[in-house]
Amino acid sequence: MSKKIILLVVASIIGLSALSLIQARLIQNTYALRKEAFIDKTSEIVGKIGSYATPIDSISDAISNTFLKDLDKFTVNLLSKEMLLNRLKAINDSLNPRFISEYKKEIKGKSLNYDLKYHKILQSIILVDSLKTDTLYFDKEAKDLRLVGYDFENDPELRLGTSTWETSRSFERKLSGKTRKGKYDVVFKTVNYMNIDGWNSIILTEMRGLLIFSFCIFLFVIGLFYYSIKNLITQKKIADIKTDFINNITHELKTPLATLSLATKMLKRQDLNAQNNFAESTIETIERQNIRLQKLVDQVLNNSLGYNEIELQKESVSLNDFVLEIVDDFLISNKDIPLTNVMCDYDVLIEVDKFYMSTVLSNILENAVKYGGTELKVQLKHNKGIEIIISDNGIGISKKDIQQIFNKFFRAENKDIHNVKGLGLGLYYSNQIIKAHNGTISVKSEKGKGTTFSIKLPLD
Ligand code: ADP
Repeated sequence: MSKKIILLVVASIIGLSALSLIQARLIQNTYALRKEAFIDKTSEIVGKIGSYATPIDSISDAISNTFLKDLDKFTVNLLSKEMLLNRLKAINDSLNPRFISEYKKEIKGKSLNYDLKYHKILQSIILVDSLKTDTLYFDKEAKDLRLVGYDFENDPELRLGTSTWETSRSFERKLSGKTRKGKYDVVFKTVNYMNIDGWNSIILTEMRGLLIFSFCIFLFVIGLFYYSIKNLITQKKIADIKTDFINNITHELKTPLATLSLATKMLKRQDLNAQNNFAESTIETIERQNIRLQKLVDQVLNNSLGYNEIELQKESVSLNDFVLEIVDDFLISNKDIPLTNVMCDYDVLIEVDKFYMSTVLSNILENAVKYGGTELKVQLKHNKGIEIIISDNGIGISKKDIQQIFNKFFRAENKDIHNVKGLGLGLYYSNQIIKAHNGTISVKSEKGKGTTFSIKLPLD
């Protein structure tokens, strides 16, 4: 991958991560807002229970009346602070079961789809009389003294808010035969907490739509990003392939053109022409190079044909004879290559376009020699269809390259063999021809050991 693409990928990943962080932050904020709204709604419900429900109200009245009587005693030193608080706790504990059962009834009537538990914790009691202000109790965090409600020690609780009860009280009390009058103000603060089993998931369920939508958008952006980068890499590969192709074809054209120009120059020289057979062999060279140029041009022109554009003119041929003919032709120009032929046990007739099919077989045979093969083997098999197998003991193809060798313009990097000419079109074209015959071509190879091509054709 080029540096530019790597840079682009890194920049996009950073951008995507930043976007994801922003998205996560937005979701977190939404969650916080929803939680607030949820608490507000629930507080309202709990608040209504406190204010309108008569049985609960009467319990609260009973508690506050008892407490005020105790407070009277406290102001005239009949009770210590500790005893006052203990009695407050005791009266709350004794009335709590009734409170809970009344509370349950109330909650049932609200038809909530969750289990809402609630309790009141004492925060402070401040007593103000004509002489002084006395803080009888103070717990800033409001954690310790549960008045009425459920106990939910370990579960997460939600703070609903503070409620303040303020009252002015005058009392008369007989003490050792004397009537004592007293007057004081008391400020009683409690903090209300609620606990809902799985409240987290209730809020998350409410946010389900948003979460799914965000997730889909996120996937969409990642997909888009992946698609763009993939496209970019493909474009870059195509550009590289085109450059390689131009280099290859220039290289391919150079040799025959140079030979042709040399041959024509020689033909012009009278003294050489006088020599026996000179003109004849030079013309043969020109002809050979001309054929080579023609072949190159044909390859380039043909490569633009897809398998569905190839017009086949099929004829019935004997498999053994057809392949033998091609192999014989091949051996004329490759006399010193030992070639083993394993023919079909019994001959079959196949329907092929002889011209195209011989192009395929010649391509594979020529490649076998071009890429280091010194011994070749051609096998013919007949099962449901027919199979033509051509093996060589050449340089082989690496695992990485083998998947690409039927791609247009693909050429493996062959460091072991120098100066092997080619355009990377032969196997692409062969594959198209085999596909046009409704067959398949496959390859097996081991680097350094050799390559085997197998062509399977159906019997129509
Ligand atoms: P080229 O014109 O490069 O030969 P081909 O399409 O015929 O193009 O082959 C594609 C690539 O497949 C070749 O460049 C070569 O790397 C690899 N190849 C094909 N046949 C063989 C073989 N018999 N042995 C090793 N490599 C091969």
